[in-house]
Amino acid sequence: MPNEKQQAPADSFDVIVIGGGPAGYPAALRAAQNKLSVACIDEWKNKDGTFAFGGTCLNAGCIPSKALLESSELYYRLQSEFAVHGIKVSGAALDLAQMQKRKAGVVRTMTQGILTLFKAAGVTPLQGHGKLLAGRKVEFTAHDGSRRTLSAKHVVLASGSAPIELRSAPFKAPEIVDSWGALDFEAVPKRLGVIGAGVIGLELGSVWRRLGSEVVVLEALPDFLAFADQQLAREALRHLKKQGLDVRLGAKVSGARVTGAGVEVSYTDAGGEQRLTVDRLVVAIGRRPYTEDLFSPDSGVTLDERGFIKVDEHCRTGAAGVYAIGDCVRGPMLAHKGKEEGVMVADLIAGRYGEMNYKVIPSVIYTAPEIAWVGETEEQVKASGREYKTGVFPFLASGRARAMEQAAGFAKIVASREDDEILGVHIVGPLAGELIAEAVLAMEYSASSEDLQRTIHAHPTLAEAVHEAALAADKRSIDAPNR
Ligand code: FAD
Ligand code: NAD
Repeated sequence: MPNEKQQAPADSFDVIVIGGGPAGYPAALRAAQNKLSVACIDEWKNKDGTFAFGGTCLNAGCIPSKALLESSELYYRLQSEFAVHGIKVSGAALDLAQMQKRKAGVVRTMTQGILTLFKAAGVTPLQGHGKLLAGRKVEFTAHDGSRRTLSAKHVVLASGSAPIELRSAPFKAPEIVDSWGALDFEAVPKRLGVIGAGVIGLELGSVWRRLGSEVVVLEALPDFLAFADQQLAREALRHLKKQGLDVRLGAKVSGARVTGAGVEVSYTDAGGEQRLTVDRLVVAIGRRPYTEDLFSPDSGVTLDERGFIKVDEHCRTGAAGVYAIGDCVRGPMLAHKGKEEGVMVADLIAGRYGEMNYKVIPSVIYTAPEIAWVGETEEQVKASGREYKTGVFPFLASGRARAMEQAAGFAKIVASREDDEILGVHIVGPLAGELIAEAVLAMEYSASSEDLQRTIHAHPTLAEAVHEAALAADKRSIDAPNR
């Protein structure tokens, strides 16, 4: 029997995906698994002029930042922790060029892996610009400038996002940079300023702090991690401050000027007008949907008032057969959110079941200790007027965390008093990003705190903290006093 994919004319596909980041490439792969003919168009260009699939996440986001977080954490622990373990180290020194080279190698392996996956699945990779026209035609302009018009039964838009520029501190490389610039410093800045104590500010601020920078983080809001559970946020801030991150809340930046002495940043806070001079300034105040030249006005696709592509709960746009997923649509800007949307639309296109549970998308901030949560914060549950209970278990009482010399933080569970359903789980502590997966699964299955209480957890593991937090919600914790 001839392969259906081989019969498809080269310019006509069942599915064309525009954007090959963590939303687009999984959509293409799942569509191919569903035996549809698929092309994935991506225009990502690296600073060295090479092209790569993987989008922001693999090239300039999740993966390079995690590579540097890992390396810098090892360097930091070597200096601050090894002696406690009875390991004496002398002559340790930072080789930033090698650290950056390793990071680049990790990125290259991961991005080239997408091409391998495409080849194995039969996805046609097209590197260049894609633009949706009326009637699901797609204009493809290759990087060499050649142009052709493709057609598809279904189109998936996955064009991602771009950093927001701050009017009072516009990007001016090499001094005032976005997160991509901050991942590529060739020397450790002596003084680093970060605008925005969000996910990027904390992760990249941590990297450079651990490598020796004096880091000041200016955050406009009066609360730290205002969108997170505030008990969690307070605990995280305490530990980050101990590491030397100088987080200044309620700081409104009014200007930034590159001078011979560095970058002069002016801001106001509760104490009035302030000034700060740094060698490098990272602006990390959020990202905006990127939809430039993505679709023609007659394509039927529209944007909402914030610039996101308008979609329904199944990521359908206003144009028949056209979907949009990932950072360019509403919802948290997270790689795993985009990936699941990609899988959902590829299954829906193939006539299969596809659904996204937006209520249980985990968030992880890869600082040390890590910060992770899923579901509602205690503040949200309280504000809703529902009766609830909480259980908290400190890692200080965890044998494994103690043995690891990583006993900072706690696991916290928020559950309904009425029916015991788990409403949220919030963890600050070692490998919190891994531990949260259990809570995500539990909540996906609408588990009660009793379900977690009755689940056997191996000893000694960090996961026991989640178990004990669930027990603590009913004042039945074994390994910590119940309050
Ligand atoms: P993108 O990854 O932005 O990919 C979109 C792709 O489409 C790009 O390659 C772009 O060039 C291409 N494109 C756009 N328009 C066109 C067009 N018209 N034609 C052809 N191609 C086009 N998220 C996490 O979940 N975990 C993390 O640890 C994490 N860390 C991050 C660290 C940093 C520093 C940053 C900046 C972000 C991080 N994120 C993280 C967020 C994550 O990177 C995004 O949520 C994710 O990349 C969004 O995926 P996407 O596929 O929607 O868009
Ligand atoms: P963010 O929304 O997480 O944080 C931005 C912070 O900047 C907020 O705290 C905000 O109050 C503050 N801010 C806004 N305007 C300001 C101003 N003028 N002055 C001072 N502070 C200001 O955005 P981000 O950190 O830029 O990250 C962008 C996106 O990338 C986020 O949506 C995030 O989910 C994603 N991301 C995720 C991860 C992860 O999952 N680990 C890592 C990095 C980035």
